[in-house]
Amino acid sequence: MARSYVGEARRRVGPKRERIVPIVERLLAEHPEATIALRFRNDLELLVSVMLSAQTTDVNVNRVTERLFEKYRTPQDYLAVPVEELENDIRATGFFRQKTRALRGTMAMLLKEFNGKVPGRMDELLRLPGVARKTANVVVSERGEAQGIVVDTHVRRLSQRLGLTRRDDPVKIERDLMKLVPRRYWNVFPHLLIWHGRRVCLARTPRCEGCVLNDLCPASRVEVGTVPSHSGP
Ligand code: SF4
Repeated sequence: MARSYVGEARRRVGPKRERIVPIVERLLAEHPEATIALRFRNDLELLVSVMLSAQTTDVNVNRVTERLFEKYRTPQDYLAVPVEELENDIRATGFFRQKTRALRGTMAMLLKEFNGKVPGRMDELLRLPGVARKTANVVVSERGEAQGIVVDTHVRRLSQRLGLTRRDDPVKIERDLMKLVPRRYWNVFPHLLIWHGRRVCLARTPRCEGCVLNDLCPASRVEVGTVPSHSGP
């Protein structure tokens, strides 16, 4: 988009502070089922699933964890088998050597410092080997105690298209979003953008014509004046 057109588009849709709640409300109406796609039954399984999900799809992780979680139920279980056995059990998620190292390091620290439990605070989670900010954010958020906003590739792309941030770095994007998105939505907001990004605002060919946000989005390809009507706020 040319620079002058970007400015014009931003003026057309108005300030982001006025758009953010309607954006969230419309996405909530559009994707009421938006939630995490990973399958888990407790905090340990949640942490392991999120760690395994790096560089692969949630569907792939679920396929692997279905068997994995029957075999490995406690932090001790991950340390009780030979390294190669755990590597084989998670091989299908890719980067399996790196992930095995991170899992074993994390399990050892859980046992040594956290009584075998998954800690609840971001700063504690971030101390676990192989647990980066995104992983920690997903874990606290899924427990209903979001202390930040998860930024993945969809959240990054949609936040930029919607004019909610001009940053490229996920940490800076998160900072912008935390200032903008009301805290009550921090948990659901990433899921909404991820679902919208997978179904409507596709990376290469966004489907602006059918998008409920097209009159709130400076990147919309729909011509002004031809915006289809929509329900909701
Ligand atoms: S209007 Fe187009 S670019 Fe904007 S959020 Fe919708 S699909 Fe994405």
